[in-house]
Amino acid sequence: MNSFEYQRVKDTAGAVQSTSTHSKFLAGGTNLIDLMKNNVEHPDKLIDINRVALAAIETLPDGGLRLGSLARNSDTANHPLVRQKYPLLSRAILSGASPQLRNLATNGGNLLQRTRCPYFMDPGFSQCNKRAPGTGCAAIGGFNRAHAIFGASESCIAVHPSDMCVALAALEATIRVVGRNGERQIPLSEFHRLPGRTPELDTNLKPDELILSIDLPPSPYARHSHYLKVRDRASYEFALVSVAAAMDLQGGVVRSTRIALGGVAHKPWRAEAAEKMLVGQKATPAMFEAAARQAIAGAKPYRENAFKVELTKRAIVRALSIAGGLV
Ligand code: SF4
Repeated sequence: MNSFEYQRVKDTAGAVQSTSTHSKFLAGGTNLIDLMKNNVEHPDKLIDINRVALAAIETLPDGGLRLGSLARNSDTANHPLVRQKYPLLSRAILSGASPQLRNLATNGGNLLQRTRCPYFMDPGFSQCNKRAPGTGCAAIGGFNRAHAIFGASESCIAVHPSDMCVALAALEATIRVVGRNGERQIPLSEFHRLPGRTPELDTNLKPDELILSIDLPPSPYARHSHYLKVRDRASYEFALVSVAAAMDLQGGVVRSTRIALGGVAHKPWRAEAAEKMLVGQKATPAMFEAAARQAIAGAKPYRENAFKVELTKRAIVRALSIAGGLV
């Protein structure tokens, strides 16, 4: 591990003023510290924000919910209001990591998780545009079973690892941040980036910006939602494919729906064309199958991950069927 400066701050102003080009905020540290030990991340300064008051979970005036960025993943998933109003989010968080990690990991840190592409995680591999821009992508011609089937580029085919963020995409969350130029709000759909030619950038967050909260709008999906995670083993594993499915049903007809996918792209992937296809239709297995076929149109698999295309289709049908009470 490289040497670095450590600074503890007490408030958001102090946190923002302490930033530099190569500083990082330290909260739970469950991903960042591992990456520093492995010589993947080398911040010159860690700004410890654990004493900043950003852990509250509270109702918003419009009936939505504000999740503090420093609330621990366990506290968020088990909060009565999250369980009651956003069970999709609770289920997604609880499907990730282990209880010990969820007790330490924060909501802000979960948003900033980095890919688990093995070539990124191990500097012993020389080619990785995300870790060392301009060196190439070893995964494109190498081991790519877990990699993207949507939105990849010639520079990077990695996937985003978070379960929480897939549910947040379906719930259309907004990320509230503060930097030297003040506060701004970023829709979840614009928070994470596709790789393009700059895969080293995972998000549109600026170096001086601190995540304050995740804001959830009021949701009509509490009764009919499901998070389905398909993985190689039953726990403590990242998704091969995951689906956050939510429907607002009236008399068995879909009034609105949200379908977000995980494990298939560099960011949580919304299946908007499939969503549109379902609106106004009866919630039936045949309609779910048609929507799932629409969702995988345009998928581009690589040598070892073609199975993900069919798996994604089947996972969507399954998640919608559970959400709609058909199984
Ligand atoms: Fe690096 Fe992305 Fe290629 Fe993995 S997929 S080796 S993270 S550039």
